[in-house]
Amino acid sequence: MFDLSGRVALVTGGNGGIGLGMARGLAKAGAAVMIAGRDAAKNEAALAELRALGAEAEAVIADLTDPEAVKAMVAETVKMLGGLDILVNNAGTNIRRRPEEYRLEDWHTVLATNLTSAMLASQAAYPHLKASGHGRVINNGSMLSIFGLPFHAAYGASKGGVVQMTKSLAVAWAADGITVNVLLPGWIDTALTQKARGDMPTLHEDVLRRTPTKRWGDPKDFEGIAAFLGSDASAFITGVAIPVDGGFSVHG
Ligand code: NDP
Repeated sequence: MFDLSGRVALVTGGNGGIGLGMARGLAKAGAAVMIAGRDAAKNEAALAELRALGAEAEAVIADLTDPEAVKAMVAETVKMLGGLDILVNNAGTNIRRRPEEYRLEDWHTVLATNLTSAMLASQAAYPHLKASGHGRVINNGSMLSIFGLPFHAAYGASKGGVVQMTKSLAVAWAADGITVNVLLPGWIDTALTQKARGDMPTLHEDVLRRTPTKRWGDPKDFEGIAAFLGSDASAFITGVAIPVDGGFSVHG
């Protein structure tokens, strides 16, 4: 029931960080994987890693702030890998600035990357997920869809939107055999948070203090949950937000 042989997965932002962790989990369970990102060199390095696992893997260059590129990414996946069973809307970005100084163009970039692209990719994927008979959408939210931080108005708004969008899609598409769930990562050691660590000198210690498991998350921590949510084993789980945070969100 965890076997993904014969299934096709598309992972946005699958060329690094958490997305590559999820791509590895899906590949190890037997899925053919398409990864999408903007950076050709990162795509190639990630492809080599996935193929070294024995997986069928391809890559597409796409800037997901462009609605046409989102549609083309889905079409390319279906053309190259023969269908689409599992869509992972993982790509994301953050532009941190206090709300009173937040620029409209940055707001649009964060919302377009984190939220709008996930909606557009889901729309484009829908006929293929429905035809699959066991379609899966795995969105990537954040614990910042629940908590607030002073520099994260746009990021938090986008991730809160991803959580609510997940619930609507789950209800709308349940009768088509499609499940739609969202992950809420805690503090994970990736390029995104390396940047934040540079700007916030106490962040590393704060994260260790607030996280009961006393470590940062690693992209490896997302391999299992991606394979599970992509598989038949999770067929009766839909519309839920699952923390992957080492207990951060329940720490009193
Ligand atoms: P990374 O910066 O390591 O990865 C981000 C990925 O998104 C890259 O593969 C990048 O590819 C892709 N991406 C960004 N913008 C675009 C774009 N416009 N078009 C296409 N691809 C894009 O970050 P993480 O792995 O940490 O983040 C992955 C997801 O997890 C994000 O949605 C993030 O918000 C979420 N998350 C992360 C947390 C953490 O602690 N790290 C905590 C909570 C949520 P490329 O460089 O090729 O454009």
